[in-house]
Amino acid sequence: KPRVSARIGGISESATLAVDSKAKALKAAGRPVIGFGAGEPDFPTPGPIVQAASAACEDPRNHRYSPASGLPELREAIVTKTARDSNYTIQPNQVLVTNGGKQAVYQAFATLLDRGDEVLLPAPYWTTYPEAVSLAGGVPVVVGTDESTGYLAGIEQLEAARTPRTKVLLFNSPSNPTGAVYPPERIEEIGRWAAEHGIWVITDEIYEHLVYGSARHVSMPAVVPELADTCVVLNGVAKTYAMTGWRVGWMIGPTDVIKAATNLQSHLTSNVANVSQRAALEAVSGPLDAVAEMREAFDRRRRTIVDMLAEIPGVSCPEPHGAFYAYPSVKELLGSEIRGVRPRTSTELAELVLEQAEVAVVPGEAFGTPGYFRMSYALGDEDLAEGVRRMGNLLREAK
Ligand code: PLP
Repeated sequence: KPRVSARIGGISESATLAVDSKAKALKAAGRPVIGFGAGEPDFPTPGPIVQAASAACEDPRNHRYSPASGLPELREAIVTKTARDSNYTIQPNQVLVTNGGKQAVYQAFATLLDRGDEVLLPAPYWTTYPEAVSLAGGVPVVVGTDESTGYLAGIEQLEAARTPRTKVLLFNSPSNPTGAVYPPERIEEIGRWAAEHGIWVITDEIYEHLVYGSARHVSMPAVVPELADTCVVLNGVAKTYAMTGWRVGWMIGPTDVIKAATNLQSHLTSNVANVSQRAALEAVSGPLDAVAEMREAFDRRRRTIVDMLAEIPGVSCPEPHGAFYAYPSVKELLGSEIRGVRPRTSTELAELVLEQAEVAVVPGEAFGTPGYFRMSYALGDEDLAEGVRRMGNLLREAK
């Protein structure tokens, strides 16, 4: 018998974390690597949130187990926040607080899928989704998009991929990895289509506050109320409040689904660390000023990276409107010779860029679309400009 089960042995390492740790290791070894790999704001967590956590450490109530579903105050605050930000009315028993948005992703699929159930997964997709689907026994059905449509899927494509086994549509806007933001009309159209066919929607809204220019975020069940009974919303504090390491997310759904997911979580991890929950409570109940400041910085970097990428021959990048990622196509460069080597895939090209330009990017293979790079622009302005300059100088040698 194999030592590792087929189910777990089939999981591949998170490519985004792998790129990030390789970049950090090279940096630690003294190489001046600039990392575009991690999806992590470079700002510190805002002061009042840290102070709330610090006070929570002193309170003995937080030293004990708390309900697996989350601190009652935090669930209440998430209800209020969801009404404020999404105009979506829910009750506290529709909220489950999780260890980051990632646990919410796993639990949502584990709770909804039986073996063989199909999940429509628009690509480029966040690298964790297909793994979570497969681990739950489901089958990811990839619906491909490309830069020609700004990476947006339409209902014709979804309809073409629908079968009698389709149970769930995974929807993510603003998108990791492309930065695409679906326009409100398209969100409404997709939500109606899903409701009409009895397809559940898992909508990952973790980048809701990071939209730029005229782009607007709307929450699918808020604009399609008939979907509410077959919809799970995923969210968290990581990206909005620069709290990636605090590990607090949540899932919102119909009460039966939330109850079932809570049962799962009660055996898996129990409650999320109380100190982190207290920090999240301060975050979601507080003002959005710090987010507005971070958004401004991200927007400035977004314009810098898009303008600089546009100057590199063979690279083409539609303008991202949300999150903090650019997703340029490098397809035209594949097969060209650069410094004596001829990369044929975006993975090989990304390796060359790391070795020769000391710049870390995540290749499109990780997101179901070879031929692209994902570049997070959640890094300092100077590093960002220097990194794209270095990459551009290398890629200009292609012949
Ligand atoms: N969903 C998306 C689309 C993400 O990009 C991430 C993080 O990269 C998450 C969910 C999960 O975030 P966390 O587990 O840090 O809360």
